[in-house]
Amino acid sequence: MISFWPPVFVRLTIVLVVALVAGVAFGANFGYLAAIAGLLLLIGLHLYYLRKVMGWLATSGGEPDIAELPAGYGAWAGVFLALRQRERRERDQQAELERMLHRFMEATSALPDGIIILDASDRVEWCNARASEHFNLSAERDRGFFVSNLIRRPAFIEYLGRVDATEPLILSDETSGLVLSVQVLPFQDLRRIVLSRDISQLRRVEAMRQDFIANVSHELRTPLTVVAGFLEHLVDMPDMPRAERARIEALMLDQSRRMRRLIDDLLTLSKLETQDAPSLTEAFSVKSVVDEAVSEARVLSAGRHSIVLRELPEAEFHGAHEEIGSALENLLSNAVRYTPEGGKIEVRGALDADALRLSVTDTGPGIAAEHIPRLTERFYRVDKSRSRETGGTGLGLAIVKHVLARHGGHLDIRSEPMHGSTFTMVLPAARVSALAADAVQ
Ligand code: ADP
Repeated sequence: MISFWPPVFVRLTIVLVVALVAGVAFGANFGYLAAIAGLLLLIGLHLYYLRKVMGWLATSGGEPDIAELPAGYGAWAGVFLALRQRERRERDQQAELERMLHRFMEATSALPDGIIILDASDRVEWCNARASEHFNLSAERDRGFFVSNLIRRPAFIEYLGRVDATEPLILSDETSGLVLSVQVLPFQDLRRIVLSRDISQLRRVEAMRQDFIANVSHELRTPLTVVAGFLEHLVDMPDMPRAERARIEALMLDQSRRMRRLIDDLLTLSKLETQDAPSLTEAFSVKSVVDEAVSEARVLSAGRHSIVLRELPEAEFHGAHEEIGSALENLLSNAVRYTPEGGKIEVRGALDADALRLSVTDTGPGIAAEHIPRLTERFYRVDKSRSRETGGTGLGLAIVKHVLARHGGHLDIRSEPMHGSTFTMVLPAARVSALAADAVQ
Protein backbone atom coordinates (compact mmCIF):
# COMPACT_ATOMS: atom_id res chain seq x y z
CA MET A 1 0.00 0.00 0.00
CA ILE A 2 1.44 3.33 -1.06
CA SER A 3 0.67 5.98 1.63
CA PHE A 4 -1.24 9.07 0.57
CA TRP A 5 0.35 12.03 2.39
CA PRO A 6 4.14 11.67 1.87
CA PRO A 7 4.08 12.08 -1.96
CA VAL A 8 1.68 15.06 -1.58
CA PHE A 9 4.07 16.78 0.87
CA VAL A 10 7.12 15.95 -1.24
CA ARG A 11 5.56 17.57 -4.35
CA LEU A 12 4.34 20.66 -2.46
CA THR A 13 7.76 21.04 -0.86
CA ILE A 14 9.46 20.82 -4.29
CA VAL A 15 7.12 23.56 -5.68
CA LEU A 16 7.76 25.81 -2.63
CA VAL A 17 11.54 25.27 -2.73
CA VAL A 18 11.65 26.05 -6.49
CA ALA A 19 9.51 29.21 -5.89
CA LEU A 20 11.76 30.26 -2.99
CA VAL A 21 14.92 29.79 -5.07
CA ALA A 22 13.32 31.75 -7.97
CA GLY A 23 12.25 34.51 -5.52
CA VAL A 24 15.76 34.77 -4.03
CA ALA A 25 17.43 34.71 -7.45
CA PHE A 26 15.07 36.86 -9.52
CA GLY A 27 12.97 38.78 -7.08
CA ALA A 28 9.77 38.12 -5.12
CA ASN A 29 7.45 38.41 -8.17
CA PHE A 30 9.30 35.59 -9.94
CA GLY A 31 8.99 33.55 -6.76
CA TYR A 32 5.16 34.03 -6.66
CA LEU A 33 4.86 33.27 -10.34
CA ALA A 34 6.91 30.08 -9.96
CA ALA A 35 4.76 29.00 -6.95
CA ILE A 36 1.48 29.63 -8.90
CA ALA A 37 2.83 27.80 -11.98
CA GLY A 38 3.95 24.84 -9.82
CA LEU A 39 0.58 24.65 -8.04
CA LEU A 40 -1.30 24.90 -11.39
CA LEU A 41 0.86 22.07 -12.74
CA LEU A 42 -0.01 19.91 -9.71
CA ILE A 43 -3.76 20.71 -10.05
CA GLY A 44 -3.61 19.92 -13.81
CA LEU A 45 -1.96 16.60 -13.07
CA HIS A 46 -4.69 15.69 -10.51
CA LEU A 47 -7.44 16.75 -12.95
CA TYR A 48 -5.84 14.61 -15.67
CA TYR A 49 -5.89 11.48 -13.45
CA LEU A 50 -9.37 12.30 -12.14
CA ARG A 51 -10.62 12.40 -15.73
CA LYS A 52 -8.87 9.08 -16.41
CA VAL A 53 -10.63 7.42 -13.45
CA MET A 54 -14.01 8.91 -14.44
CA GLY A 55 -13.54 7.76 -18.02
CA TRP A 56 -12.51 4.29 -16.90
CA LEU A 57 -15.48 3.93 -14.50
CA ALA A 58 -17.90 5.10 -17.21
CA THR A 59 -16.63 2.51 -19.74
CA SER A 60 -19.70 1.53 -21.68
CA GLY A 61 -20.41 -1.98 -22.99
CA GLY A 62 -19.30 -4.25 -20.19
CA GLU A 63 -16.92 -4.33 -17.31
CA PRO A 64 -14.13 -1.64 -17.15
CA ASP A 65 -10.80 -3.22 -18.08
CA ILE A 66 -8.23 -2.80 -15.33
CA ALA A 67 -5.42 -2.88 -17.91
CA GLU A 68 -6.62 0.51 -19.21
CA LEU A 69 -5.77 2.29 -15.93
CA PRO A 70 -2.42 4.21 -16.14
CA ALA A 71 0.36 3.45 -13.66
CA GLY A 72 -0.42 6.71 -11.86
CA TYR A 73 1.74 9.37 -10.41
CA GLY A 74 2.23 10.40 -6.76
CA ALA A 75 -0.87 9.83 -4.60
CA TRP A 76 -2.69 8.53 -7.71
CA ALA A 77 -0.34 5.55 -7.87
CA GLY A 78 -1.83 4.46 -4.48
CA VAL A 79 -5.41 5.05 -5.73
CA PHE A 80 -4.82 3.01 -8.89
CA LEU A 81 -3.08 0.23 -6.99
CA ALA A 82 -6.01 -0.01 -4.52
CA LEU A 83 -8.48 -0.05 -7.44
CA ARG A 84 -6.50 -2.78 -9.13
CA GLN A 85 -6.39 -4.90 -5.96
CA ARG A 86 -10.12 -4.48 -5.40
CA GLU A 87 -10.87 -5.39 -9.00
CA ARG A 88 -8.70 -8.53 -8.77
CA ARG A 89 -10.45 -9.62 -5.55
CA GLU A 90 -13.87 -9.15 -7.16
CA ARG A 91 -12.83 -11.11 -10.23
CA ASP A 92 -11.57 -13.97 -8.06
CA GLN A 93 -14.82 -14.00 -6.09
CA GLN A 94 -16.85 -13.95 -9.30
CA ALA A 95 -14.82 -16.82 -10.75
CA GLU A 96 -15.36 -18.81 -7.54
CA LEU A 97 -19.12 -18.07 -7.70
CA GLU A 98 -19.20 -19.17 -11.33
CA ARG A 99 -17.40 -22.40 -10.42
CA MET A 100 -19.91 -23.06 -7.61
CA LEU A 101 -22.84 -22.30 -9.90
CA HIS A 102 -21.42 -24.66 -12.51
CA ARG A 103 -21.02 -27.43 -9.90
CA PHE A 104 -24.58 -26.81 -8.70
CA MET A 105 -25.94 -26.99 -12.28
CA GLU A 106 -24.02 -30.22 -12.90
CA ALA A 107 -25.37 -31.71 -9.67
CA THR A 108 -28.97 -30.76 -10.50
CA SER A 109 -28.72 -32.13 -14.02
CA ALA A 110 -27.61 -35.47 -12.53
CA LEU A 111 -30.73 -35.53 -10.35
CA PRO A 112 -33.45 -37.94 -11.45
CA ASP A 113 -36.08 -35.28 -10.68
CA GLY A 114 -37.03 -32.16 -12.62
CA ILE A 115 -36.83 -28.78 -10.83
CA ILE A 116 -38.42 -25.52 -11.99
CA ILE A 117 -37.97 -22.39 -9.85
CA LEU A 118 -40.83 -19.88 -10.13
CA ASP A 119 -40.81 -16.26 -8.98
CA ALA A 120 -43.62 -14.66 -6.94
CA SER A 121 -45.77 -14.31 -10.12
CA ASP A 122 -45.20 -17.94 -11.23
CA ARG A 123 -42.75 -16.93 -13.94
CA VAL A 124 -39.93 -19.37 -14.73
CA GLU A 125 -36.63 -18.27 -13.18
CA TRP A 126 -34.66 -21.43 -13.81
CA CYS A 127 -35.13 -25.12 -14.59
CA ASN A 128 -32.78 -28.10 -14.66
CA ALA A 129 -32.18 -30.43 -17.63
CA ARG A 130 -34.59 -33.09 -16.35
CA ALA A 131 -37.46 -30.56 -16.09
CA SER A 132 -36.65 -29.42 -19.66
CA GLU A 133 -37.08 -33.04 -20.79
CA HIS A 134 -40.28 -33.57 -18.80
CA PHE A 135 -42.04 -30.42 -20.01
CA ASN A 136 -40.14 -29.62 -23.21
CA LEU A 137 -38.77 -26.37 -21.74
CA SER A 138 -35.55 -24.50 -22.34
CA ALA A 139 -33.83 -22.83 -19.37
CA GLU A 140 -32.65 -19.92 -21.58
CA ARG A 141 -35.56 -19.46 -23.99
CA ASP A 142 -38.37 -19.78 -21.44
CA ARG A 143 -36.89 -17.74 -18.59
CA GLY A 144 -39.35 -15.00 -17.51
CA PHE A 145 -42.44 -16.65 -19.06
CA PHE A 146 -45.48 -17.61 -16.99
CA VAL A 147 -45.26 -21.34 -16.29
CA SER A 148 -48.97 -21.73 -17.11
CA ASN A 149 -48.20 -20.50 -20.65
CA LEU A 150 -45.42 -23.05 -21.01
CA ILE A 151 -47.11 -26.09 -19.40
CA ARG A 152 -50.61 -25.75 -20.79
CA ARG A 153 -52.12 -28.96 -19.38
CA PRO A 154 -55.47 -28.03 -17.69
CA ALA A 155 -54.81 -30.42 -14.76
CA PHE A 156 -51.46 -28.70 -14.10
CA ILE A 157 -52.95 -25.19 -14.28
CA GLU A 158 -55.72 -26.21 -11.88
CA TYR A 159 -53.13 -27.79 -9.54
CA LEU A 160 -50.97 -24.65 -9.64
CA GLY A 161 -53.96 -22.59 -8.48
CA ARG A 162 -54.69 -24.86 -5.52
CA VAL A 163 -54.07 -23.49 -2.03
CA ASP A 164 -53.02 -26.91 -0.77
CA ALA A 165 -50.82 -28.66 -3.34
CA THR A 166 -49.15 -31.09 -0.96
CA GLU A 167 -50.58 -34.19 -2.71
CA PRO A 168 -48.64 -34.85 -5.93
CA LEU A 169 -50.42 -34.51 -9.26
CA ILE A 170 -50.14 -37.38 -11.76
CA LEU A 171 -49.75 -36.17 -15.34
CA SER A 172 -49.81 -38.79 -18.07
CA ASP A 173 -49.13 -38.23 -21.74
CA GLU A 174 -50.95 -40.75 -23.91
CA THR A 175 -48.78 -40.21 -26.99
CA SER A 176 -45.34 -40.52 -25.41
CA GLY A 177 -46.40 -42.83 -22.56
CA LEU A 178 -44.66 -40.51 -20.08
CA VAL A 179 -46.22 -40.46 -16.61
CA LEU A 180 -45.06 -37.68 -14.25
CA SER A 181 -45.65 -37.16 -10.56
CA VAL A 182 -45.63 -33.35 -10.08
CA GLN A 183 -45.48 -31.39 -6.84
CA VAL A 184 -45.46 -27.62 -6.25
CA LEU A 185 -43.75 -26.50 -3.04
CA PRO A 186 -43.61 -22.95 -1.66
CA PHE A 187 -40.23 -21.46 -0.71
CA GLN A 188 -38.85 -18.00 0.17
CA ASP A 189 -42.15 -16.17 0.78
CA LEU A 190 -44.11 -16.23 -2.48
CA ARG A 191 -41.72 -18.14 -4.72
CA ARG A 192 -42.43 -21.75 -5.62
CA ILE A 193 -40.59 -24.78 -6.84
CA VAL A 194 -42.10 -27.37 -9.22
CA LEU A 195 -40.72 -30.89 -8.72
CA SER A 196 -41.39 -33.55 -11.36
CA ARG A 197 -40.55 -37.25 -11.27
CA ASP A 198 -40.85 -39.75 -14.14
CA ILE A 199 -42.92 -42.64 -12.78
CA SER A 200 -43.67 -44.26 -16.18
CA GLN A 201 -41.55 -47.32 -15.40
CA LEU A 202 -43.10 -47.67 -11.94
CA ARG A 203 -46.58 -47.50 -13.48
CA ARG A 204 -45.66 -50.06 -16.14
CA VAL A 205 -44.31 -52.47 -13.50
CA GLU A 206 -47.46 -51.97 -11.42
CA ALA A 207 -49.70 -52.64 -14.45
CA MET A 208 -47.64 -55.74 -15.29
CA ARG A 209 -47.92 -56.96 -11.70
CA GLN A 210 -51.69 -56.56 -11.76
CA ASP A 211 -51.93 -58.29 -15.16
CA PHE A 212 -49.76 -61.11 -13.90
CA ILE A 213 -51.90 -61.68 -10.79
CA ALA A 214 -55.07 -61.61 -12.92
CA ASN A 215 -53.52 -64.12 -15.36
CA VAL A 216 -52.29 -66.51 -12.66
CA SER A 217 -55.66 -66.40 -10.91
CA HIS A 218 -57.43 -67.11 -14.18
CA GLU A 219 -55.06 -69.95 -15.12
CA LEU A 220 -55.52 -71.64 -11.73
CA ARG A 221 -59.22 -71.01 -11.52
CA THR A 222 -60.09 -72.91 -14.71
CA PRO A 223 -58.68 -76.33 -13.66
CA LEU A 224 -59.86 -75.77 -10.07
CA THR A 225 -63.42 -75.18 -11.28
CA VAL A 226 -63.24 -78.35 -13.38
CA VAL A 227 -61.92 -80.43 -10.45
CA ALA A 228 -64.51 -78.96 -8.04
CA GLY A 229 -67.31 -79.72 -10.56
CA PHE A 230 -66.21 -83.34 -10.96
CA LEU A 231 -65.88 -83.79 -7.20
CA GLU A 232 -69.43 -82.50 -6.67
CA HIS A 233 -70.58 -84.91 -9.36
CA LEU A 234 -68.86 -87.82 -7.58
CA VAL A 235 -70.34 -86.82 -4.21
CA ASP A 236 -73.83 -86.51 -5.72
CA MET A 237 -73.62 -89.90 -7.42
CA PRO A 238 -72.16 -92.41 -4.97
CA ASP A 239 -73.38 -95.29 -7.15
CA MET A 240 -71.72 -94.10 -10.31
CA PRO A 241 -70.57 -96.97 -12.56
CA ARG A 242 -66.94 -97.88 -12.14
CA ALA A 243 -65.90 -97.02 -15.72
CA GLU A 244 -67.49 -93.54 -15.50
CA ARG A 245 -65.83 -92.90 -12.13
CA ALA A 246 -62.43 -93.93 -13.55
CA ARG A 247 -62.92 -91.56 -16.50
CA ILE A 248 -63.74 -88.66 -14.16
CA GLU A 249 -60.78 -89.45 -11.89
CA ALA A 250 -58.47 -89.45 -14.90
CA LEU A 251 -59.79 -86.03 -15.96
CA MET A 252 -59.34 -84.67 -12.43
CA LEU A 253 -55.80 -86.01 -12.33
CA ASP A 254 -55.11 -84.30 -15.63
CA GLN A 255 -56.36 -80.93 -14.30
CA SER A 256 -54.35 -81.29 -11.07
CA ARG A 257 -51.23 -82.00 -13.11
CA ARG A 258 -51.93 -78.88 -15.12
CA MET A 259 -52.10 -76.83 -11.90
CA ARG A 260 -48.93 -78.48 -10.66
CA ARG A 261 -47.10 -77.64 -13.94
CA LEU A 262 -48.25 -74.04 -13.71
CA ILE A 263 -47.04 -73.71 -10.12
CA ASP A 264 -43.73 -75.40 -10.98
CA ASP A 265 -43.21 -72.96 -13.88
CA LEU A 266 -44.10 -69.98 -11.67
CA LEU A 267 -41.60 -71.13 -9.05
CA THR A 268 -38.93 -71.63 -11.73
CA LEU A 269 -39.50 -68.09 -13.04
CA SER A 270 -39.39 -66.62 -9.57
CA LYS A 271 -36.13 -68.51 -8.83
CA LEU A 272 -34.60 -67.24 -12.09
CA GLU A 273 -35.50 -63.69 -11.17
CA THR A 274 -34.15 -63.78 -7.64
CA GLN A 275 -31.11 -66.06 -7.81
CA ASP A 276 -27.56 -64.79 -8.35
CA ALA A 277 -26.20 -64.89 -11.90
CA PRO A 278 -25.01 -68.39 -12.91
CA SER A 279 -21.40 -69.03 -12.01
CA LEU A 280 -18.66 -69.20 -14.60
CA THR A 281 -16.88 -71.98 -12.75
CA GLU A 282 -19.53 -74.63 -13.41
CA ALA A 283 -18.96 -76.12 -16.89
CA PHE A 284 -20.71 -78.90 -18.79
CA SER A 285 -20.43 -80.49 -22.19
CA VAL A 286 -22.77 -79.02 -24.80
CA LYS A 287 -23.26 -82.50 -26.25
CA SER A 288 -24.39 -83.97 -22.93
CA VAL A 289 -27.05 -81.30 -22.35
CA VAL A 290 -28.39 -81.61 -25.91
CA ASP A 291 -28.42 -85.45 -25.73
CA GLU A 292 -30.47 -85.36 -22.51
CA ALA A 293 -32.99 -82.88 -23.94
CA VAL A 294 -33.36 -84.86 -27.19
CA SER A 295 -33.95 -88.14 -25.26
CA GLU A 296 -36.68 -86.43 -23.23
CA ALA A 297 -38.28 -85.01 -26.38
CA ARG A 298 -38.33 -88.50 -27.94
CA VAL A 299 -40.16 -89.83 -24.88
CA LEU A 300 -42.67 -86.94 -25.09
CA SER A 301 -43.19 -87.47 -28.83
CA ALA A 302 -43.66 -91.21 -28.34
CA GLY A 303 -42.64 -91.87 -31.95
CA ARG A 304 -45.06 -89.36 -33.48
CA HIS A 305 -42.21 -87.23 -34.89
CA SER A 306 -38.80 -87.80 -36.32
CA ILE A 307 -36.36 -86.02 -33.99
CA VAL A 308 -32.89 -85.64 -35.51
CA LEU A 309 -29.71 -84.38 -33.91
CA ARG A 310 -27.53 -82.60 -36.50
CA GLU A 311 -24.01 -81.17 -36.12
CA LEU A 312 -22.89 -80.15 -32.64
CA PRO A 313 -19.59 -78.54 -31.54
CA GLU A 314 -17.39 -80.44 -29.11
CA ALA A 315 -17.28 -77.72 -26.49
CA GLU A 316 -17.87 -76.96 -22.86
CA PHE A 317 -20.22 -74.26 -21.74
CA HIS A 318 -19.69 -72.30 -18.51
CA GLY A 319 -23.02 -71.70 -16.80
CA ALA A 320 -25.88 -73.45 -15.02
CA HIS A 321 -26.30 -76.92 -16.55
CA GLU A 322 -29.82 -77.36 -15.20
CA GLU A 323 -31.04 -73.98 -16.51
CA ILE A 324 -29.63 -74.43 -20.04
CA GLY A 325 -31.00 -77.99 -20.10
CA SER A 326 -34.48 -76.87 -19.07
CA ALA A 327 -34.47 -74.03 -21.66
CA LEU A 328 -33.63 -76.49 -24.45
CA GLU A 329 -36.24 -78.94 -23.13
CA ASN A 330 -38.86 -76.19 -23.25
CA LEU A 331 -38.05 -75.46 -26.91
CA LEU A 332 -38.13 -79.16 -27.79
CA SER A 333 -41.35 -79.72 -25.85
CA ASN A 334 -42.98 -76.84 -27.79
CA ALA A 335 -41.78 -78.31 -31.09
CA VAL A 336 -43.23 -81.72 -30.14
CA ARG A 337 -46.52 -80.24 -28.85
CA TYR A 338 -47.18 -77.90 -31.79
CA THR A 339 -45.87 -80.03 -34.67
CA PRO A 340 -48.51 -82.40 -36.05
CA GLU A 341 -47.85 -86.14 -36.08
CA GLY A 342 -45.39 -87.20 -38.78
CA GLY A 343 -43.54 -83.87 -38.60
CA LYS A 344 -39.77 -83.45 -38.37
CA ILE A 345 -37.77 -81.78 -35.58
CA GLU A 346 -34.07 -81.00 -35.97
CA VAL A 347 -31.60 -79.92 -33.30
CA ARG A 348 -28.26 -78.41 -34.24
CA GLY A 349 -25.43 -76.50 -32.64
CA ALA A 350 -22.93 -74.08 -34.19
CA LEU A 351 -20.06 -72.20 -32.69
CA ASP A 352 -18.33 -69.14 -34.12
CA ALA A 353 -16.22 -66.31 -32.69
CA ASP A 354 -19.29 -64.55 -31.26
CA ALA A 355 -21.76 -67.13 -30.15
CA LEU A 356 -22.79 -70.68 -29.50
CA ARG A 357 -26.13 -71.24 -31.24
CA LEU A 358 -28.37 -74.14 -30.27
CA SER A 359 -31.42 -74.30 -32.49
CA VAL A 360 -34.60 -76.35 -32.70
CA THR A 361 -36.33 -76.40 -36.10
CA ASP A 362 -39.75 -77.95 -36.65
CA THR A 363 -42.14 -78.50 -39.53
CA GLY A 364 -45.08 -77.31 -37.40
CA PRO A 365 -47.73 -74.68 -38.16
CA GLY A 366 -45.34 -71.70 -37.91
CA ILE A 367 -46.18 -68.35 -36.31
CA ALA A 368 -47.40 -65.11 -37.92
CA ALA A 369 -44.93 -62.19 -37.72
CA GLU A 370 -47.11 -60.02 -35.44
CA HIS A 371 -46.99 -62.64 -32.66
CA ILE A 372 -43.24 -63.25 -32.69
CA PRO A 373 -42.10 -60.24 -30.59
CA ARG A 374 -44.66 -61.11 -27.87
CA LEU A 375 -44.06 -64.88 -27.58
CA THR A 376 -41.73 -64.57 -24.57
CA GLU A 377 -44.29 -62.57 -22.54
CA ARG A 378 -45.81 -64.50 -19.68
CA PHE A 379 -49.07 -66.22 -20.68
CA TYR A 380 -48.92 -65.00 -24.27
CA ARG A 381 -50.24 -67.69 -26.60
CA VAL A 382 -51.00 -67.60 -30.30
CA ASP A 383 -53.68 -70.25 -29.96
CA LYS A 384 -54.94 -70.53 -26.37
CA SER A 385 -56.93 -73.74 -26.78
CA ARG A 386 -54.10 -75.50 -28.66
CA SER A 387 -51.66 -74.55 -25.88
CA ARG A 388 -53.95 -75.82 -23.09
CA GLU A 389 -54.88 -78.95 -25.03
CA THR A 390 -51.21 -79.89 -25.25
CA GLY A 391 -50.54 -79.10 -21.58
CA GLY A 392 -48.92 -75.68 -22.07
CA THR A 393 -48.70 -73.20 -19.21
CA GLY A 394 -47.91 -70.15 -21.35
CA LEU A 395 -44.68 -69.67 -19.38
CA GLY A 396 -42.21 -71.88 -21.30
CA LEU A 397 -40.69 -69.20 -23.55
CA ALA A 398 -40.64 -66.66 -20.68
CA ILE A 399 -38.47 -69.16 -18.77
CA VAL A 400 -36.20 -69.66 -21.83
CA LYS A 401 -35.78 -65.89 -22.21
CA HIS A 402 -34.84 -65.48 -18.54
CA VAL A 403 -32.34 -68.36 -18.59
CA LEU A 404 -30.63 -66.95 -21.68
CA ALA A 405 -30.55 -63.39 -20.31
CA ARG A 406 -28.92 -64.69 -17.11
CA HIS A 407 -26.15 -66.19 -19.27
CA GLY A 408 -25.71 -63.04 -21.37
CA GLY A 409 -27.56 -64.54 -24.34
CA HIS A 410 -30.92 -64.19 -26.10
CA LEU A 411 -33.58 -66.15 -27.98
CA ASP A 412 -33.84 -65.76 -31.74
CA ILE A 413 -37.17 -66.77 -33.31
CA ARG A 414 -37.63 -67.32 -37.06
CA SER A 415 -40.99 -68.54 -38.22
CA GLU A 416 -43.50 -68.32 -41.02
CA PRO A 417 -47.03 -69.65 -41.03
CA MET A 418 -47.19 -73.06 -42.78
CA HIS A 419 -43.39 -73.23 -43.00
CA GLY A 420 -42.40 -74.27 -39.50
CA SER A 421 -40.31 -72.48 -36.88
CA THR A 422 -36.71 -72.23 -35.72
CA PHE A 423 -36.02 -71.21 -32.12
CA THR A 424 -32.32 -70.48 -31.52
CA MET A 425 -30.64 -70.09 -28.14
CA VAL A 426 -27.81 -67.59 -28.78
CA LEU A 427 -25.16 -67.82 -26.04
CA PRO A 428 -21.95 -65.77 -25.76
CA ALA A 429 -18.86 -67.55 -27.11
CA ALA A 430 -16.92 -66.06 -24.17
CA ARG A 431 -18.58 -68.71 -21.96
CA VAL A 432 -17.42 -71.57 -24.20
CA SER A 433 -14.15 -73.43 -23.72
CA ALA A 434 -12.28 -76.38 -25.31
CA LEU A 435 -13.09 -75.05 -28.77
CA ALA A 436 -12.76 -77.92 -31.18
CA ALA A 437 -14.01 -77.74 -34.71
CA ASP A 438 -15.10 -81.44 -34.75
CA ALA A 439 -18.77 -81.85 -35.17
CA VAL A 440 -20.92 -84.71 -34.06
CA GLN A 441 -23.31 -86.04 -36.60
P1 ADP B 1 -47.07 -72.67 -24.04
O1 ADP B 1 -47.02 -73.31 -22.73
O2 ADP B 1 -48.40 -72.10 -24.38
O3 ADP B 1 -46.47 -73.47 -25.13
P2 ADP B 1 -44.78 -70.98 -24.41
O4 ADP B 1 -44.32 -69.79 -23.67
O5 ADP B 1 -43.85 -72.15 -24.45
O6 ADP B 1 -46.18 -71.35 -23.84
O7 ADP B 1 -45.06 -70.54 -25.91
C1 ADP B 1 -45.86 -69.41 -26.15
C2 ADP B 1 -46.64 -69.55 -27.42
O8 ADP B 1 -45.76 -69.59 -28.55
C3 ADP B 1 -47.40 -70.84 -27.52
O9 ADP B 1 -48.66 -70.75 -26.89
C4 ADP B 1 -47.53 -71.05 -29.01
O10 ADP B 1 -48.64 -70.33 -29.48
C5 ADP B 1 -46.28 -70.41 -29.57
N1 ADP B 1 -45.23 -71.42 -29.90
C6 ADP B 1 -44.18 -71.77 -29.14
N2 ADP B 1 -43.41 -72.70 -29.76
C7 ADP B 1 -44.01 -72.92 -30.95
C8 ADP B 1 -43.70 -73.78 -32.07
N3 ADP B 1 -42.62 -74.57 -32.08
N4 ADP B 1 -44.53 -73.73 -33.13
C9 ADP B 1 -45.61 -72.93 -33.13
N5 ADP B 1 -45.97 -72.13 -32.13
C10 ADP B 1 -45.18 -72.11 -31.04
